[in-house]
This record gives sequence, structure tokens and C-alpha cells, in this order.
Amino acid sequence: MKDRIYTDHAATTFLSPVALEAMMPYLTDKFGNPSSLHSFGEEASKAVYKARTEIADIFCCEPENIVFTSGGSEADNQAIKTIVSGRRSSVLLISAAEHHAVLNSANSITDSKIEIIPISPCKSGYIDPESVSIAIERTEKSVCGGSFMLANNETGAISDICKISEIIHEYGGIIHTDAVQAAGHILIDFKKLGVDLMSVSAHKFHGPKGIGALIHNGCSIPRSLIHGGSQERGLRAGTENVASIIGMAAALSESAKNMERDTAHIFHLKDMLISGLLPLGAIVNGGGLPGILSVRFPNGDGEALVRSLDLFGIAASAGAACNSKEVGTSHVLLSMGLTHDEAAATVRFSLDASNTDDEIRRIITVMSELV
Ligand SMILES: *Cc1c(COP(=O)(O)O)cnc(C)c1O
Repeated sequence: MKDRIYTDHAATTFLSPVALEAMMPYLTDKFGNPSSLHSFGEEASKAVYKARTEIADIFCCEPENIVFTSGGSEADNQAIKTIVSGRRSSVLLISAAEHHAVLNSANSITDSKIEIIPISPCKSGYIDPESVSIAIERTEKSVCGGSFMLANNETGAISDICKISEIIHEYGGIIHTDAVQAAGHILIDFKKLGVDLMSVSAHKFHGPKGIGALIHNGCSIPRSLIHGGSQERGLRAGTENVASIIGMAAALSESAKNMERDTAHIFHLKDMLISGLLPLGAIVNGGGLPGILSVRFPNGDGEALVRSLDLFGIAASAGAACNSKEVGTSHVLLSMGLTHDEAAATVRFSLDASNTDDEIRRIITVMSELV
């Protein structure tokens, strides 16, 4: 296992042993349904409450305003449907570099009265708040809201969501941020961000897959997508994924506790990797998050590079994981103004505290042979 090198942490991360240990009792003896009145139910419900409080403390939000979902995609869908719900003739502003969970959720809106305005990021990958203001001033319609990711999953670019929130609010809209890549990797203060809605997903910070949350501010209450029982205050029906919720809290607490140390180590690894790749002609595409390095090689073929790296036991990505199995050019890189060829010549390495100096040296050696 350890002779393979994993540098695709933006696609997913391994489950932390600490999280697994926290989950085990709830996958075995403590299997109660939190809605049940007996002691089995109470045991599960108390554990979910504790996990909710831990997560709220880390994100600086209210525990009762966390809606557990099946992951980032569901949270993004719920957020978009919440923004447009009940709105007449208005515009929805969306960054052109959003994850497909946001883009395709917006594309699924059949109400022709909602106009979607894509906002392109700048060359470095982040959204300039000024471009949001300009787009709003150009339209005659009212603004139902906006969705702008905190950190991009392909380039790591971080946008000034505080400022964008202010702008959207000034025009009376609801603002959502997809914080899936940022959560567990940089400090997030939900209240300071000023957004109404925020999505997170556990498997991007060493929690289990299939669990995430939509966090709200108590004013813009999420619209339910799944109807049924009154779990999650009626905002998301279905028996709680108890073990995963507990795993999510454990993984998040662990990453919060180690964040400072881990960030320093990851930046060091990234610097090493950049220094090794620049002499090979690499050009860095944007950036911001500690762990994500998106680089292009003039006249290179990103997909061929990723396949060759895999033969050497190195896992990287040519784009977002959801696209990398299909051949296609990254909409994120194109939206930043890269040409088709530049986008297709890109490789993304996403690093983690578990990566080592030796691994980075091996990647550089293999890349020198391949490029
Ligand atoms: C991974 C990811 C998602 C989707 O989350 P899932 O839990 O896999 O559904 C959404 N947005 C971003 C930015 C992501 O990186």
C-alpha cells in the first residue's frame, strides 16, 4: 500500500483511524434509531447531538442550523433549490468555476423566469467581487441570490466570500458558498463569512463518504428536498446516518486540532514539488489552498501524464474526479481564460499531511522522465 503514492486528496481522502474508531460502536452495539424513545434511541440521539455541537463549534455556527445531508452534492442541490424557491423573475449569479453539483443543480431549474448569470473567475482562479457587482448592475431584474465557492477544487483558488456576501445581500439575495474543499483545510468562521448557506462534505477531510451538511444562518431556512419524517427539524427526512455523523465530527475535530502543524507541512511539500516541476517547464494555474497544486506543461497532455503516473503507482488527476474518467476539458480552467490546449495540458496534485518528502522526490523523478 505504502509504495503507492496518493496525491489526489481533492477527490477524496482516506478515513481517519480516529474517525473509524469513533464510528465503530455506532455500526455495532449502539445501533439505535435516534427517533426511538427507548435507551437505544436515546444513546444514538445523544451522540448525534454531541457531534452536531462539535461541528458547530468548529465552523462557528449554531448546532440547530446544521442539516446533515448525504454529502456535498446534496447540500449544494438543496442550497440552489432554496435560493430560487418561490422567486419570480430574477437572476441567480453563479461562478463559472463551481463544482458540477452547483452548476448542474442550477441548470436543472426549469422555471424560465430565473435567469442564470455565470461569473468568470480571474486568471488566478478566484472571483473578483467587483465582477459580481458589475453583473448585477447590468441586469434589470431583481437578484434571488448567488452561489460562489470558498475554495476551488481544481486550482485551490480562494475567493473573498465575505465581500461577495455583502454585495448579494445589498441586493436582497440569498448567498450560498460551497465550502467542501475548504472545510478541514483552512479556518472557516460561518458567521464572519456572512453567507446564508454553506455546504461541507466529510470525505474531503478524512471523514466517511456519503455524509455532509448544509449549514444555514437561521434566516434563510433550507427548503427540504427529501420529504418524510421530521428529522433535521423537518429539513431533511430520513433516519440519521448516525455512525457517519459521528465520524464526520471526529474527523473534523482531528483536522482542526492539527491544522496549524499540517498546513506548515503541506506548504513545505508543495514548495518542494513546485521547485522540482518548474525546471520541467511547469506553469502553475492559480492556487490558494495549501494542498492543491494545478500545473500545466506546455504541449503536454494532462490525461496521458496522469495515466503514466499511475503506472508508476502515483495517483494524481487531470481535473476534477467527477470528470477525470471521461475525456473532457476542465470548465474551471477554461473559465479562467486558459486555452483548450493549456487546460488539457494540466495535472492536479492534491497533497495531504500524510504525504512525505520522499514521495515528493519520487514524483519529481518520475515527472522528469515523463515530461
Ligand atoms: C467533492 C466536492 C463536492 C461534492 O461532494 P460529495 O460529498 O462528493 O457529493 C462538491 N463541491 C466541491 C467543491 C467538491 O470538491
